[in-house]
Amino acid sequence: MLYYSTNHKSEKVNFREATIQGQAPDKGLYFPERIAMLPTKLLTELKSTPKADIAFEVIKPYVGDTIPANELHEICTHTVNFEFPLVQVNDTISSLELFHGPTLAFKDVGARFMSRCLGYFSRDNKKKITVLVATSGDTGSAVANGFLGVDGVEVIILYPSGKVSKIQELQLTTLGQNIKALEVQGTFDDCQKMVKQAFTDSELNAKLFLTSANSINVARWLPQQFYYFYALQQWADDEPPVVCVPSGNFGNICAGLLAAVSGLPIKHFIAACNSNDVFTRYLESGKFETREAVATISNAMDVGLPSNFVRILELFGHDYSRIKNFISSYRISDEETVNTIQQVFKNYGYTLDPHGAVGFAALEKYLQQNAGQKGLFLETAHPLKFSDVVEKAIGERLEIPAQLQHLLQLKKQSLVIKPEYEGLKDFLMSA
Ligand SMILES: *Cc1c(COP(=O)(O)O)cnc(C)c1O
Repeated sequence: MLYYSTNHKSEKVNFREATIQGQAPDKGLYFPERIAMLPTKLLTELKSTPKADIAFEVIKPYVGDTIPANELHEICTHTVNFEFPLVQVNDTISSLELFHGPTLAFKDVGARFMSRCLGYFSRDNKKKITVLVATSGDTGSAVANGFLGVDGVEVIILYPSGKVSKIQELQLTTLGQNIKALEVQGTFDDCQKMVKQAFTDSELNAKLFLTSANSINVARWLPQQFYYFYALQQWADDEPPVVCVPSGNFGNICAGLLAAVSGLPIKHFIAACNSNDVFTRYLESGKFETREAVATISNAMDVGLPSNFVRILELFGHDYSRIKNFISSYRISDEETVNTIQQVFKNYGYTLDPHGAVGFAALEKYLQQNAGQKGLFLETAHPLKFSDVVEKAIGERLEIPAQLQHLLQLKKQSLVIKPEYEGLKDFLMSA
């Protein structure tokens, strides 16, 4: 399988190259040159097939011969070695809980898969791979956790001092081994600027093999398909579900759409957005107009220019009416989000996080307009990650889950640096 760039100016590359490069040199996104249709056997035997085997079957055509089958199966087994339960919330709505991984958000799966692939690809590289990430919280911890203990890969995380939550900071700074945290005395934008400058510094790149672990990387995007198979495995109705995905950069929903185009039975998709509603407006008007991101309480979805939009266009052959027929979208305000957390807790005893609440509210709206259907939404983060919003809405304290209990005993280890590129460069050159 080869991947082309959505800007059509760069060469086609295989999975290995696409993973190492992240973004194509012409700044396009890599996209598989054909869609691998699912084997009938996988679909008819879905319910009895182990999670890791499903993952392996789904991803195999996209990896091609760049990773041997036994290694790839091991990577898959490691990637999905936690639960993805489908929990019924009321008569028509279920929640696919994607927060049971080590950092309690759905980005764990993509990060774990990509890190193991890069680890495999770095085996015959002379230079060690250095992954450089700037984070405002969640992505950094998923990436760092995914790479923990992977041979031949070192991870440097830059985070803004005092601007991540206590739990997030502990997640970033207590891993040790091949993970180093730099605490930058500045903002997230400073961190991002420093990282960007490092990628363009030729002296530095001559010494180190730098990569970004960016969310558009095919090795982070493609494994997100797995969730939708695990949802279908647990779906008890004869009719296929309507699936609602809280969306920001649209990587997750686009992976679901790929699974559906490949043959997975899903009736309809809903892109649930907060006030950052570029896609909602696209479905209304046919025009894609990006805007500055605005801050909301579902902040992992605060994206003004969803990078994976171009992948949706590719999937549907740039056909607006096909897209509009298969996907609906709703924008949910912060006020509606809080009300949803409150109501769902009160009426059904289920605790949503703000992102899942946007998903629940959007699905509820769709089902009101399309009576007789049933659906599920993706609950993308553990409520505890957003405890200030959630506890205020439900009027109760949340319990700290087992995965996080041990963190509170650990000691933060970070190197404090000024928000200046030279400090980062000195650190990287001397490492
Ligand atoms: C990243 C993220 C999203 C948005 O996912 P996209 O793939 O960017 O659309 C939603 N919820 C949470 C908790 C996230 O971390």
